[in-house]
Amino acid sequence: MNKKISLLLLSSALVMSVSAQSYLPAPSLYTKAHNDSIAQIVESFGSEDFVNANRGFIGGYDKEGKIVKANKLPKEKDWNYWKTKIPENINPSLWHYIHVNGPAGLFEVLPDQIYQVRGLDIGSVTFVKTNTGYVVIDVTTNEEAAAAAYQLFTHFVGKHPVKAVIYTHSHGDHYAGIQGILKSQPDNGAGIPIIAPSKFFESAIGENVIAGAPMGRRATYQFGTFLNDDADGYSLTSRHGDLIPATQELTEDEQTVKIDGVDFDFLQTPNTEAVSATIVYIPKYKALCQADEVIHTMHNLLTPRGAKIRDGLAWSKYLDRALAKWGKEVQVSFGQHQWPVWGNDKVNELWEKQRDLYRYIHDQTLYFANQGYTPSEIANAIKLPKSLQDYMANREYYGKLSFNARSQYQLYFGFFDGVPVNIDPLTPTEEGKEWVEAIGGVEQALTVAQKAYDNGKYRWAATLLNKVVFAYPNHSGARKLLADSYAQLGYQEESQIFRYYYLAGAKELLKGVKKKETKSQLNPKLGIGLLFDVVGSRFNGDKIDKSLTINVKAIDTGEVATVILKNNALSNRPNVLSDQPDIVLSASKKDIVDLFSRNTKLNDRFTISGNQSDLQSILDLIETPDYYFNIIEP
Ligand SMILES: [Zn+2]
Repeated sequence: MNKKISLLLLSSALVMSVSAQSYLPAPSLYTKAHNDSIAQIVESFGSEDFVNANRGFIGGYDKEGKIVKANKLPKEKDWNYWKTKIPENINPSLWHYIHVNGPAGLFEVLPDQIYQVRGLDIGSVTFVKTNTGYVVIDVTTNEEAAAAAYQLFTHFVGKHPVKAVIYTHSHGDHYAGIQGILKSQPDNGAGIPIIAPSKFFESAIGENVIAGAPMGRRATYQFGTFLNDDADGYSLTSRHGDLIPATQELTEDEQTVKIDGVDFDFLQTPNTEAVSATIVYIPKYKALCQADEVIHTMHNLLTPRGAKIRDGLAWSKYLDRALAKWGKEVQVSFGQHQWPVWGNDKVNELWEKQRDLYRYIHDQTLYFANQGYTPSEIANAIKLPKSLQDYMANREYYGKLSFNARSQYQLYFGFFDGVPVNIDPLTPTEEGKEWVEAIGGVEQALTVAQKAYDNGKYRWAATLLNKVVFAYPNHSGARKLLADSYAQLGYQEESQIFRYYYLAGAKELLKGVKKKETKSQLNPKLGIGLLFDVVGSRFNGDKIDKSLTINVKAIDTGEVATVILKNNALSNRPNVLSDQPDIVLSASKKDIVDLFSRNTKLNDRFTISGNQSDLQSILDLIETPDYYFNIIEP
C-alpha cells in the first residue's frame, strides 16, 4: 500500500471502530437512556471547537496519496453534522469529540508564521518561522509521518530549511519521528540543533523500561489495539521510530534560546505529563506551545496502562506560572495534539480551566481523604463543579475524574486504603470461590448477576461476575454475561480509554487473547546500569543457588559494570569493575544487549574468562516477559 495512503487510514483507524461487533450485545434500554441524556449536554458545547479544529486548513493527502488543496478533499458539512448519525453504542459526547477533531493535513496557525500538520499520526508537527527558515516543534511517532508532514509543508509553504528541532517532552509521539525531518534536509540534517528539556534522553530511554512489558500488555486494552476484527490493530511500533538525543538539553527552569534570530522562551515542567517536559513561548508571535500540559480533554494523572503517578498539584502550578508570565500578551496557544485556540481571552480561559481542573482534582481528593474517605469512596463522591465540567476541554475523553482522584490518593497514601481486610487480601481466585460458595453456587450467582444486568446495574453485575470468572474461568455463561456487562459500560463511557478497556475485556472473554510474535530485545542505547536493572527484573532468581561476580566490558562504548549474583538477587555496579571477578565478559555493547535479551547465544564474538557454564546458568534464568498474559481471568 502507498505509504501516504496508509498514513491517512491511520488517522481514521484511530477514530475508534464503533461498528457493532456480532459477539457484543445491543445497547440496552438503560444504555440508550443514559446516552440520550448526554446528547443534550453536548448540544451546549456549541461549535467553537469544531470551527477552531477546521480553521486554517490548507491541504492534505487524498486517497491516492496525492497532495491536494483543502477544497478538493471531502469535508464534514458543519458542526451539526455529528447529530445526524450518532450510533447507539457510543456515548454521544465521545462521538461529538471524534467529529470535532478536524481533518488531516496542513493548517495555518498564524499566516506566514506558524503552521501545523495534524492528523497524519497521533502527534502533530509544528513549523515556526525564524529569520531564514523554520523551527520544527515535535516530530510525531514515526519517520514516515514526519516526512509526509514536511512534504505537505514544503508543497504549500515552500522549501524552507529547518533551523532547529524542539522536542517538548520525552514521550515517543513527540520525538520518535525525528529521522523523517532530518533526512529531508541536506546532509541528513547534520548540524541541525535539537533542543529538549533537561534529562530528556535518560527519561525517554528509562521511563517505563523496567516495567515495559506489562505496560505494553495493558496498553492493548487502553488503546483498543485488538478491537478491530479485520485488522491487527494499530501499533506504535509498526512504523520507524528512533530516539536521537538532543544537541542541547535545557539547564534552567526558565530559559530563553535564540534560534536563527527569534527568541524561544522555555518553561520546564518536569514530572507532570512527562518526566522531562517543557512549555515554549515565542514572544515574536505571542504564541504559546502547550506540550501535553494543556490539551482539549482531561488528561491522565495516572494512565490506566500503568505508569508512575503524576502530581496534579505541580501540574496546576506550572500552568499558573505560564499564565502569570505570558497570560497578558499571549494571542494563540497550540498543542501537539488537536487544534489551537486563538485570542487572548480564549487562551486564558483554556489554560485557567485546565489549571483549575488539576488543582481541583488534587485538592478535592485530599479534602475527602481528610474526612476519612477511601479511594473508591472518593472516586464515587468527587464531582466537577459546573464551571469546570461544562467546558469541553475538561471533559473525560481521555483521562477520567474518578480514576484521577484515586491516583492522587495513591500519590500520598499508596494503594492501601487503610481498611484492615485490605492489608492482606485473598487472591481473586480464592475470593471468587468463597463468594460463589457463599451465594449458593455458580448458577445462583448467575441468577443474581442476571437480575442486576436486567436492572441496568452493570457495575455490580460485573463485580459479581468477575468473581465467578476468576473462580471458574471455563464457565461460558459467566463469561458471556460479564462480557455483556462490560459492553454496556463501554457503550456509556465518555472516556475513550474506559470504553476501550471495557470492550477489550469483553472481547477477550469471548474470543480469547490474540497473541502475536513477541520480541524481548532491549534497546542497545540503554546505559549499562539500567540494562542490568532491566535484566534483574527478568531474572528468575528463585531457581539458582550460586554466588558470582561478573565484570562486563563493552569494548566499543567503553562502558563497564560489575554484576553481582548473591542471595538469589542480581545487583549491578555501573562504571565499576571488581578486582576479584569470577567471570570477565567482553563484547560490543550490542552483543552484550543481545545476549542478555536472550536473542543471541554465547559465541566467538564474546571474550570470556572464568567458568562459562556458570555464566550460562545465569543466562538460562533470564526469561522473556509474557506480553500476552491473561487480564480478565486468572
Ligand atoms: Zn503526546
